[in-house]
Amino acid sequence: MPTLTIDGKTVTVPDGTTVLQACEQAGSPVPFYCYHPGLSIAGNCRICLVEIEKTPKLQISCYTPAAEGMVVHTTSDKVLKARQDVLEFLLINHPLDCPVCDQAGECWLQDYYMNYGLYNPKFDEAKVKKPKAVPVGPTVMLDAERCILCSRCVRFCDEITKTGELGIFNRGDHSEIGVAPGIELKNDYSGCVVDICPVGALTDRDFRFKCRVWYLNSTKSVCPGCSMGCNIEIHDNRERTQRPHVATGARVMRLKPRYNAEVNRWWMCDTGRYAYTAIDEQRLTTVQQRNGQGYQISTWNDALDTLASTLRRLRDARQLDRVGIILSTQMTNEDLYAAKRVAQALGIRNLAVQGPARPGKHDDFLMKADTSPNTRGAQALGLSLDAAGLFGRAARGELSLLYVCGPDVVDTYGRSVADQVQQSVELFVYQGSNVGGSSQAAGLVLPAAVYAEKDGTFTNDQGRVQRIRQAVAPLGESKPDWKIWTELAAHLDVPVSYADASAVFAELASREPAFQGLSYEVIGDAGALLKA
Ligand code: SF4
Ligand code: SF4
Repeated sequence: MPTLTIDGKTVTVPDGTTVLQACEQAGSPVPFYCYHPGLSIAGNCRICLVEIEKTPKLQISCYTPAAEGMVVHTTSDKVLKARQDVLEFLLINHPLDCPVCDQAGECWLQDYYMNYGLYNPKFDEAKVKKPKAVPVGPTVMLDAERCILCSRCVRFCDEITKTGELGIFNRGDHSEIGVAPGIELKNDYSGCVVDICPVGALTDRDFRFKCRVWYLNSTKSVCPGCSMGCNIEIHDNRERTQRPHVATGARVMRLKPRYNAEVNRWWMCDTGRYAYTAIDEQRLTTVQQRNGQGYQISTWNDALDTLASTLRRLRDARQLDRVGIILSTQMTNEDLYAAKRVAQALGIRNLAVQGPARPGKHDDFLMKADTSPNTRGAQALGLSLDAAGLFGRAARGELSLLYVCGPDVVDTYGRSVADQVQQSVELFVYQGSNVGGSSQAAGLVLPAAVYAEKDGTFTNDQGRVQRIRQAVAPLGESKPDWKIWTELAAHLDVPVSYADASAVFAELASREPAFQGLSYEVIGDAGALLKA
């Protein structure tokens, strides 16, 4: 545990800490490009130079171990001049095309130039030309002229995905990043190289030129793509959402990984990263009731009346065993709990949760075969996962009302079984967010909000309960599932009512043993584990 002095402040740090990390702890952060806490140390960008007393030359702080008694200066004249020189050196061959660069606004060259540069450039020779706008794989575009050769992207492919697609080719000022002939940057985590590239050399082909980054809102959430529950930021277009009369176009522009030491650290997979399009595309936005062969637009009030009167009639006839409710492992803990409470209050026992239609890709890094974000939450709430049994009963004509909330059962069980169900039951209700086989087969369609449109929690496969937060308003007439269940309860005079998702969670945590002691405050940004 060495104790050192940094800019006059004394700080004691764990053994193995570098001077750069010690500077951060002491509140004197130094700039860096090539250093990344999740990668090996390259020490090649030189911008993290600091002055260490009794050492003749400036030292790179990312590679220098903190030692007992060190006296470090991060803002001495010598250090500031060196930083300026390093920046000027890095920018010698840079095209300075910020106005047309998609990284502008989140570029570390721009930031550091404004913070530490502000020099008068002395270089007036011709700049070295390199390839621009080269697609190096399906997700990433390379502009070799903007690259500062920090090697973060190369180390990511060597050390994290171990796929090694990227390398540095040629020598001297002709060195450039690239892929070997016939090779593509095409691993399951390729988008991460864009996240860690500190400049505009690697940009996201999906996001490029869609929106200037200063128009983006950022909301902390969790990826619903699998049971890993990677922490993310949802970036939506502030300019568009401030102009609600603009009726078309996507609201969510991109997803970015958010650091969580216990879950995904700095990374996320491409499957999760690019699945955001379902937030705005092919959405169910109106309440619909089947009218002969087609559908007519209905109102929430009429639709819930239809559903409530069917339920009331079956209850009065003591036939609630002919009611089946299928929920989804895509639903939040709050949604599942609200559905369970209403079903319990009515005396409906046929309640089960449907998992994903088919397993996804699994690896030993982040991706999980279970493509649901909340299987563990459904289990912790004591819900049965035997939806197939319930669906089979509906197909055999043993149910009068099938209420499917979330999963596309047609995708899971096939069109012909779904047709059988549709003919066998009196009322087939589908409550979901996107158009699919189930919304086309059901007699009553209730539009539900997606994860980016509501507050709530998912429980990942570690048993970590994590918050999702509303980034954009529910599209059209869609509503969060927990809210639809609350409104149905009101139509049935069932005393289950919540003002918001946090009220649902507060009751859930007080009644469900696995969630005891948890609250939105306790969960915070990093999540909290279920009770063992
Ligand atoms: S492309 Fe970006 S991450 Fe890769 S070496 Fe160049 S600047 Fe660094
Ligand atoms: S590993 Fe799973 S949770 Fe993480 S980004 Fe990919 S799909 Fe989303």
